[in-house]
Amino acid sequence: MATKSLEILIDEFNKLPGIGRKNAVRLAFHVLGMPMDDVENFTKALKNVKDNIKKCSICGDYSENDVCDVCSDELRDSSTICVVEDGRDIISFEKTCKYKGKYHVLDGKIAPLSGMTPDKLNIKSLLERIVKEDIKEIILGLNPDFDGDITSTYLIKLLKPFGIKITKIASGIPIGGNIEFADIATISKALDSRNEV
Ligand SMILES: [Zn+2]
Repeated sequence: MATKSLEILIDEFNKLPGIGRKNAVRLAFHVLGMPMDDVENFTKALKNVKDNIKKCSICGDYSENDVCDVCSDELRDSSTICVVEDGRDIISFEKTCKYKGKYHVLDGKIAPLSGMTPDKLNIKSLLERIVKEDIKEIILGLNPDFDGDITSTYLIKLLKPFGIKITKIASGIPIGGNIEFADIATISKALDSRNEV
């Protein structure tokens, strides 16, 4: 039978995405059988990500420093910015080893039905970068789903007056699919054959 402490742990695991009650019970009992050192390392790792990781002051991606590794890398092309929904998409683009520009993390996408309006996204800082930095191309690297398309259309309208080249990653990533789960070849192809909009 689960004791009170065990119930609390099961509830905490149950809050995690993709962890149903059955798996939460399994994980909680697994923790019970773990050596104390492993449990301490695990709790330390959880606390460290919250204590040490913040948002990069330029692109908005997660970083251990004020400015992330990509933004501070002088060898990367700072005239090209790929706009993505979140940091997980950057991991996917980086896996291709093909893209040498910089990124900008919107921190979501416009989703009127869930109350996600443009003012809640990291758009103002993107406009500031366009004004301050010498940007020649903005690549819209959003997921090819309904909300991703709304967001791309909104950004195109907003960015057009700046007179810079705006491109959109080509289809190849299936409609409704997710950049995060696309394979390296698909993402490379989508980047290579991006279209000017
Ligand atoms: Zn950055």
